[in-house]
Amino acid sequence: MRFLDPIRPAVGPEAAAKLTRDRYGVEGVVTPLYGERDRAFRVAVPGEPGMLLRVFSCEEEAARIAATVDALLHVAATDPEFVVPRPLPQRDGAYVSIVTGADGAVHHLLAVSWVPGAIIGDVAPMPDLLRDHGRSLARLGRALRGFYAPAFGTPFLWDVRQAPALLRHAGLLRPDARRTVTSAVETFAKRTLPGLAGLRAQIIHNDAGPFNVIVDPARPGRVAGIIDFGDMVHGSLAQDLSAAIGDMAVGARDSLETTAALVRGYGEATPLEEGEVEALFDLVQARLSLTVLISAWRRAARPSEENYITPLENDAAETMAKLDAAGRDRFTALARRAAGLPSLASHASVNDLLLRRQASMGRGLALFYDPPLHLVRGEGVWLEDASGRRYLDCYNNVPHVGHCHPHVVAAIARQAAMLNTNTRYLFGQAVDYAERLAATMPDGDWVCAFVNSGSEANDLAWRMAKAFTGRRGGICMEFAYHGITDAMEPFSPSADLGGGAHPHMRHLPAPDGFRGAVRYGEPDFAARYAAAADIVIDSLEQAGFGTAAFMLDSTFLTNGVLEVPPAYVQDVVAKVRAAGGLFIADEVQAGFGRMGEHFWGHAAYGVIPDMVTIGKPAGNGHPLGAVVARREIFQHFLARSAFFSTFGGNNVSCAAGMAVLDVMENEHLIRNAGETGAGLKAGLTRLAGKHALIGDVRGRGLCVGVELVTDRAALTPAAAETKRVLDLMRERGVLIGSEGVHGNILKIRPPMVLRPEHAERVVEALDECLARL
Ligand code: PMP
Repeated sequence: MRFLDPIRPAVGPEAAAKLTRDRYGVEGVVTPLYGERDRAFRVAVPGEPGMLLRVFSCEEEAARIAATVDALLHVAATDPEFVVPRPLPQRDGAYVSIVTGADGAVHHLLAVSWVPGAIIGDVAPMPDLLRDHGRSLARLGRALRGFYAPAFGTPFLWDVRQAPALLRHAGLLRPDARRTVTSAVETFAKRTLPGLAGLRAQIIHNDAGPFNVIVDPARPGRVAGIIDFGDMVHGSLAQDLSAAIGDMAVGARDSLETTAALVRGYGEATPLEEGEVEALFDLVQARLSLTVLISAWRRAARPSEENYITPLENDAAETMAKLDAAGRDRFTALARRAAGLPSLASHASVNDLLLRRQASMGRGLALFYDPPLHLVRGEGVWLEDASGRRYLDCYNNVPHVGHCHPHVVAAIARQAAMLNTNTRYLFGQAVDYAERLAATMPDGDWVCAFVNSGSEANDLAWRMAKAFTGRRGGICMEFAYHGITDAMEPFSPSADLGGGAHPHMRHLPAPDGFRGAVRYGEPDFAARYAAAADIVIDSLEQAGFGTAAFMLDSTFLTNGVLEVPPAYVQDVVAKVRAAGGLFIADEVQAGFGRMGEHFWGHAAYGVIPDMVTIGKPAGNGHPLGAVVARREIFQHFLARSAFFSTFGGNNVSCAAGMAVLDVMENEHLIRNAGETGAGLKAGLTRLAGKHALIGDVRGRGLCVGVELVTDRAALTPAAAETKRVLDLMRERGVLIGSEGVHGNILKIRPPMVLRPEHAERVVEALDECLARL
């Protein structure tokens, strides 16, 4: 292979001095430097930075040299502040010319500016300096992003992808080094090389090791610049970073610490992707294998240089052995942490993590499943656990447009990198989002107040309702849930453990046509349930509270995902309004198209609320809550209290909110919720014909409940069976939940990107589970 044993030019210091004078008009002190395959000279000029003169090996292609000049000029143009050597023109203006060596061979000549400062290999690099090294390499990569030259796409000796080809020289290695190198290269070829083509790639420096990174003479902890662009190739960013890690690890006090510092710094300038970090270990070992193999070959070919080559060969082999001893898992875990990626813990660590969680977060905190699911990744409708198993997520409505949707992730990252502040300053994101939310509302004059959660939104709406109406009584459904704050506790009987007395609160019986007082198909179904509102309103009047507001979750989720006729909600709202109260539509569950037909859940009932509250799905997992209120209600409140939420309406949350709305539109997710939801419900209803345990299937859009009963006539709730089904579904890789006073209703409420094929899988899995019971 070219360059394995290069013939170095027969050009000495005198000839170099003459070239400097003749071609550049520069008079200086010429000192020869070590060149691996060429002759390099430093030309010191008093009072000036001086230059570096390079006479290339005759094997070096003209195109590579010209491309190197172009790359340096490109960096000078894209990042003028970043220090790299600048190509120096000769007297005739050309950067490259031809010289003839003493032996008559013809070579190319190039001079670049000298970069002053010590090379990083000559100082003991502390973590801060290494971190800056990583950062500088990433910065150089960014400066080179838009550059391309075909010459860097051809096979090149110091390209890690050549390692498998060089393995044929492994016979030159000592037995222990041979074993290490052979295994590293074979593993690299099998595990990592095939995937490299899928990683971010561009023209890379490919040699940012101890000799080529210059420490700032004025600031010893900082890198001044990067030199020696002789090894550039078109390759992955991970390859560029791994070359630096491998070369810096040789002789380092602690190769893992060196790795962590370089990765951290690199990631600060260019956030690393999962695949890049996962590839690092094999890339580093392959890079070091190159060093060992090439050194061994040269040691054999040039015995005169043995003293120079052997230590590097031995040190590189020793570093490989040390890294092997540390292990890929530890190396990668450390690199992941340094890159800011979540850790991928092993199976064995589930217990460990559980114990640590109990110690640090308390014992009673609810956890789904036993053993619990240790999740590490999400994508669309999928969740992945620490062992790499994927689960179809049919429980989580928070990742509304799908787990980690790239559009939302990018919007969050972009805004987080730009500005994040609060609504006491003027900025566009909150206004844009408020306008866009208001545009989804029915006709009316709407304004937005931003908070961080559904509970907070409800709490604030409740405060506004009391302030606006001057009344203090509240109404919600029995077994409702509206949040965790002190004010929402009485609105959340489903979460009330001991039940404090809440004299200002009244609960309406759930209009449950399956097991309630009035059943499906009975005459005056809606009116008979709604009549309860008269009683509670009257009771609030009698008690001196009056009715400030009625709060309703349109999915009737905690009541067991009820399907309720519009007349019921219309009746209750009319009665509340007649009593001077407001209607707060809690759209934390029902909003954003969940019910598959309208943007808002309340629209399914043909009612217009006074306030809408949102949370969960709004930011796709990013904390974002809001109250959308009639203007006069909010203005009334603002006139009487200084409303401010530190995080509410911050730039990043609002950017997330905007991105969620984009995706909903672009991917037609409301329509999908309607269609896929209908298919899901139809499939589940078919199962009811087969499994007597299914008493009822109901819900709208992608919010479906399946009520399980052990006796269809007596409607005996099958609570234990419901719990068992959740576990069996988990075993089959499908995550669902349960609901209802009796805990006997399966709750299926997936991200809105659930597709018919996923829905089929849910039905199949449930079919199997019920058959097993
Ligand atoms: N309202 C409803 C209808 C909810 O389902 C929830 C959460 N389950 C909340 C309010 C409270 O939202 P958060 O947990 O964001 O405070």
